[in-house]
Amino acid sequence: MRDKQQTGPRIAIVGGGIGGMAAAAFLHRAGLSVTVHEQASALTEVGAGLVLAPNAVRPLRALGVAESALRRSVPLDWGWEFRRWQDGTVLSVERLDGVCERLYGERTYTAHRAHLLDALRSAVPDEAVRLGARCTAVEPHADGVRLAFSDGTRTDADLVIGADGMHSLVRRTVAEPEAPRFSGLCAFRTVVPAAAAPAFALRRAQTLWLGPGRHFVHYPISGGDGVNVVAFAPATDATEESWSATATVEEFHAEFADWDGRVTSLITSGSVPGRWALYDRPPLPSWTRGRMTLLGDAAHAMFPFYGQGAAQALEDAAVLARCLTANPGAPDEALSRYETERLPRTTRLQRASHSRAEDNHLPDGPEQRERDAALGDADPLLRSGWIYRYDASAAAG
Ligand SMILES: Cc1cc2nc3c(=O)[nH]c(=O)nc-3n(C[C@H](O)[C@H](O)[C@H](O)COP(=O)(O)OP(=O)(O)OC[C@H]3O[C@@H](n4cnc5c(N)ncnc54)[C@H](O)[C@@H]3O)c2cc1C
Repeated sequence: MRDKQQTGPRIAIVGGGIGGMAAAAFLHRAGLSVTVHEQASALTEVGAGLVLAPNAVRPLRALGVAESALRRSVPLDWGWEFRRWQDGTVLSVERLDGVCERLYGERTYTAHRAHLLDALRSAVPDEAVRLGARCTAVEPHADGVRLAFSDGTRTDADLVIGADGMHSLVRRTVAEPEAPRFSGLCAFRTVVPAAAAPAFALRRAQTLWLGPGRHFVHYPISGGDGVNVVAFAPATDATEESWSATATVEEFHAEFADWDGRVTSLITSGSVPGRWALYDRPPLPSWTRGRMTLLGDAAHAMFPFYGQGAAQALEDAAVLARCLTANPGAPDEALSRYETERLPRTTRLQRASHSRAEDNHLPDGPEQRERDAALGDADPLLRSGWIYRYDASAAAG
């Protein structure tokens, strides 16, 4: 899929989610020849929100798609507002209004996943996206990599980027095959219409309630028309891992029945909740092999407890394009440079997100009191500076 301006290696991206589409947009903008192979017959994202911190907004700005990705977004005045499960006591809060922009040059927003994907897609030409293309094999050979698809077709590429998510096929070729681990946790998700939501939940805040074995997150979305709710609770079965699997309001309520009334009222006012099993992967020691590399969840799937999975995919995409543009004649070196820049940061975030599961879910007692005191001790916005400050267009950090 080359046009006359496009040069350099032919790049195949497997997966057209947020990471794959962002990579395609950055690579296309750099004048490189790129094709996205997406298994779904249409590009869709679930109707859920996500938080875009300054480090996620920066790559969108660089691509020129921030405005459309952030349409009907909500700029947050308070970031992580930690509260106690029983009575809502505030344990710590990031004051973002005015401060976030001054410290990090961007605000933090809650956005719609579908708007983000649409905005990225708009920066990729139609002919560079193949839908209904489920990749079944990637085979490196002397001159590049051959990709095979479920409809029997094959194609050759000089470089392959595996942006095919948590269960990545490309990852199995690049690294030792290893199944993702079930975390013992499930996530519930629901959206509460603004008319049914308590005023408390419509504040421009990302509120996170901590309790024994569970935590509960909510923030306004869609210009304040609704409240996005995501909650985590123990689960014994690992059967469902789909965004579209559902539970009943009663099942969701039962997990949080003795929590503060503001939590339970959000549960009972919400739509039919989604419920899915949460998986985890340990950090990879390396994610590049020859002419193949990984990006986004395929490279570094992490627990969603820092709200950074999509942000890291966007950063990956920007850095990968920068490395390939700087070194188009030696793509193997460019991929290796990309990995060297990215792996330490994503590993740190994977580990931090993992340990937040234990911290967030401590039973009431001395350790929980120690955690709550520590949360109140440091300015949370400064504590997370290493996450928000990162500028993918400039240098490693
Ligand atoms: C509850 C929850 C809340 C979250 N909240 C946030 C948040 O607030 N902020 C944030 O930054 N992140 C958040 N995340 C993380 C974020 O959603 C993910 O990290 C991000 O979507 C990963 O994008 P990706 O493109 O790497 O993978 P995916 O979105 O999984 O996309 C992979 C794509 O590859 C395709 N594919 C797979 N296999 C093949 C194949 N063989 N051939 C062709 N195509 C294939 C799939 O169809 C899919 O389109 C959250 C995650 C969860 C679970």
